[in-house]
Amino acid sequence: MTLQRRTFIIHSTVACGSLVAAQTALAQTTPAADLVKDTDAAALAVGYVTDATRANKVKYPTYAAGQRCGACVLYEASASEKSGPCPLFPNKQVAAGGWCSSWAKKV
Ligand code: SF4
Repeated sequence: MTLQRRTFIIHSTVACGSLVAAQTALAQTTPAADLVKDTDAAALAVGYVTDATRANKVKYPTYAAGQRCGACVLYEASASEKSGPCPLFPNKQVAAGGWCSSWAKKV
């Protein structure tokens, strides 16, 4: 192995290690998006609640037991995540156990 090739490999390894370290540091310092609160104006507009069992069944009679964000077609995280993005609330997250009047069954 020539010296030039060895130098290239060493530099490449160091550069890759630095990128991985930088990505890890960024992931640890980037705060997760805030959770939508029941009292947020956007939440009130669609009857969102962080706990689906507390859905206003009088105002939203379409609510049925078992409906929750984690089972909604608009929930953009895996069902096993405790919270995830929803396009109704940009830059925020909804609780997997939440619910709103826009709920639609994930197929
Ligand atoms: S649209 Fe679906 S995922 Fe979004 S808040 Fe309503 S029930 Fe939850």
